[in-house]
Amino acid sequence: MPTSPATLRGGPRGAAATAGAAALALVAALACTAALRADDDEDEPPLSPKQLQAKKELVYKAFAGQDADWTRMGKARAGDWLARFKEPGETFDEYREEMEADRPKPDSRILLVPLGDFAKDHADLLEAMREYGEAFFATRTEVAPAHAFPARTWVERRGQYNADRVLDALAKEVPPGVIAYVAFTDQDLFSSGLNFVFGLGSEGSRVGVYSTQRLGEPRERLLWRTLQLMNHEVGHIFGVDHCIFYECSMNGSNSLDESDRHPIHFCPLDEKKLSWFFGFELPARDRRLIEYYRKHGLGGEAEFLERVLKHGGK
Ligand SMILES: [Zn+2]
Ligand SMILES: [Zn+2]
Repeated sequence: MPTSPATLRGGPRGAAATAGAAALALVAALACTAALRADDDEDEPPLSPKQLQAKKELVYKAFAGQDADWTRMGKARAGDWLARFKEPGETFDEYREEMEADRPKPDSRILLVPLGDFAKDHADLLEAMREYGEAFFATRTEVAPAHAFPARTWVERRGQYNADRVLDALAKEVPPGVIAYVAFTDQDLFSSGLNFVFGLGSEGSRVGVYSTQRLGEPRERLLWRTLQLMNHEVGHIFGVDHCIFYECSMNGSNSLDESDRHPIHFCPLDEKKLSWFFGFELPARDRRLIEYYRKHGLGGEAEFLERVLKHGGK
């Protein structure tokens, strides 16, 4: 697993932040950057359209009978993530091979780290995020005490924090047993070459920093977007690449508008990755998620998962 800063992932559906980021800053205020897994795959030629289609057909065949509630990824609209980045997608076998050695130990935990005044100003949201971590990833999720922004991360002339520097500082202090060290702030973040980012994460060091600053109001939308951002970005920390097969929370996204169009749920393929990685049973986990969504006023999401369960999906 690469650990260099070059593997940072940015944006609402961020990918590896590489040299391509600088060019993108001209066209994308939002932070999504270069194609996923650039470090792993940059020496490999991209799949031809025919190869890509064959790969998709393989996935659809593998999940036939389980994907009735899911929409296959259609043609990207102009300006969409997949119109800009030709991503190869990742099958279950590819994921398993990549992540076999990284599967968590039973006592592993996710640690949410509130930066600055986030814990004080968003206590309810933070608790909702903690519960979501437990429900979605079926993994113990805790909230760390309020954490000051690391030194030399505020950039006065931009009125923003430098997410690259925050991430570098956090990567040095990950406590033992923590498999995702995920910081949240309501302050604006930027990354080298980009006007702003929703966040950055590093799969190699299992660290991320994300901002709710641009996720907006009302609170219900803020909660939905924060949870979607969280499962997507923490998904990246657990090695799940962007999904090109179904409309799914793991789709890449070029803007808030595009991420709003994607579901909050993982498709059957990405669910299979998570359930294998963590070793949880999907129906039990889904029932817990259904309870979660109902409790937090997201009844439509609960109903969707109930349909999935009824159809015996995943
Ligand atoms: Zn992403
Ligand atoms: Zn997916």
